[in-house]
Amino acid sequence: MATNDIFTLGLGLTPPWRVIDRRWETGKQPNELHLAVAADPGARFPCPTCGRLCKPHDWKETSWRHLNFFQHACIVTARVPRTDCPDHGVLRIAVPWARPDSGCPLLFEQVALLLMREMPVSAAARIIGVTDQRLWRVLQFYVRQAIARLDLSHVEAVALDETAARRGHEYVTVFIDLDAADKPVRFVTPGKGKDCVKAFRAFLLEHGGEPTRIAEVVCDMSAAFLAAAGENFPRAAVTVDWFHVVQIFTTAVEQVRRAEAHRCVLPKGVRWATLKRPEALNAAQKQALAELESGGFATAEAYRAKELLRWVRQADTTQAARWRLTHFLRHIDERLTTWNYILDPVRETVETVRRHAGRIIRRWLSGYSNARLEALNGLFQAARARARGYRNTATFACIIYLIGAPIGDLLGVTPST
Ligand SMILES: [Zn+2]
Repeated sequence: MATNDIFTLGLGLTPPWRVIDRRWETGKQPNELHLAVAADPGARFPCPTCGRLCKPHDWKETSWRHLNFFQHACIVTARVPRTDCPDHGVLRIAVPWARPDSGCPLLFEQVALLLMREMPVSAAARIIGVTDQRLWRVLQFYVRQAIARLDLSHVEAVALDETAARRGHEYVTVFIDLDAADKPVRFVTPGKGKDCVKAFRAFLLEHGGEPTRIAEVVCDMSAAFLAAAGENFPRAAVTVDWFHVVQIFTTAVEQVRRAEAHRCVLPKGVRWATLKRPEALNAAQKQALAELESGGFATAEAYRAKELLRWVRQADTTQAARWRLTHFLRHIDERLTTWNYILDPVRETVETVRRHAGRIIRRWLSGYSNARLEALNGLFQAARARARGYRNTATFACIIYLIGAPIGDLLGVTPST
């Protein structure tokens, strides 16, 4: 078998296409293998619109960056014809080994997608030997296509949450299907607030869903989300997830700790000690907490309030939960009367919880656990790591879909090459 025929087989080319020439460029590091692909002389090509076999009208030379040949870059070049169909005029044909305008063959894209499922995009780019921008373009194309195929006709309960693509700015809001046991992400959109909820409603309609079918929306206590949930999903009960209640108390503890650390010296290691669950503390952290408690610090007061939340959470019935929450809030109010403005973050948090008590209590009525939202937080962490080095809202959203949405079949079809 001639060497050109081996490369023809390797590229998976079928007649009339075959490799007609190859050359090594040793002047560059890594070396480059250039494969010239051509169609048999006299071959006819199907019109892209109707498929009628036509004579080539003219040719244009096009190159694709292929998978490395061992450690060497491989570039495939072919002259691609335009057909001249009597009905549809002069049109450039699509070659069987690549998408139009892609710059890399389907086989290359398939390997790249397999790698990007398993590792950060920058790592996949290093292995394949191309820039990560190029892989991001490939990934975004296929993810967008797979998302377009999502069927949302059965969605009845959703939870939404926002997260920062980068520290402090550029948010994305993520919607999950609460009935999905696995891969729950259904919609990711840049921004936060009411426009995101409206955008989800439009997306739902485009994907066979029905806003009046949505019976439950779970979200945090932001006024914008709550109002938008009511407007866009008129039949939905809105529940505030317990996860968010704990989250705002944790934030309040941290704000008090920071303010207090400016004014006096806190016991060493207090920051982590107040953030972790009591059962996960090591000896040094337990010691730090004990010193915090005995020292009469404002941070200790805030921490006790957060820890007392557990008692509310452990209520068995809706009635018990309502009773415990009322008493919890009253108890914290009383404790705070002896403190100055340093505990204002806790006061504000108590007011927020009081305002949304009805929606918080609903979690005892709702069948949906908050495990899903906690899992979502883990997903955000993973997505941040995977999009490292090239993170904006579009690439971040793309990775959240890749990890968390049911889009296993990214290619949609098996490529012919
Ligand atoms: Zn035609």
